[in-house]
Amino acid sequence: MTGQDRCGAAHPEDPTPCTIPQDAVTVLDGHGGAVPGCEHHGARMAASLNGARIEPGSVVGAATRALTAADRLRPYCWDTTSPRTRPDQLSHAENRAATTTP
Ligand SMILES: [Zn+2]
Repeated sequence: MTGQDRCGAAHPEDPTPCTIPQDAVTVLDGHGGAVPGCEHHGARMAASLNGARIEPGSVVGAATRALTAADRLRPYCWDTTSPRTRPDQLSHAENRAATTTP
């Protein structure tokens, strides 16, 4: 796969293919940008960008599912070689668990 046939939310370094359709959600990058994306990459992009939001696209319910998935995804989750020790390297769910555990 070259990457050119993937949705707008697919990060160039993320090797995973899109789910169908490729405009299931709309990802807002927090800086005024908005790109249509598949549910899979929408979740990954939202987990990786600070302040990103997911809005509904062409599939009812996809934005909600992508938000739920993003909560458990680590930022740039396709990067499996970097350390995962700082809060900004962990998922929101992991950070919540860390702050609520005595
Ligand atoms: Zn995609």
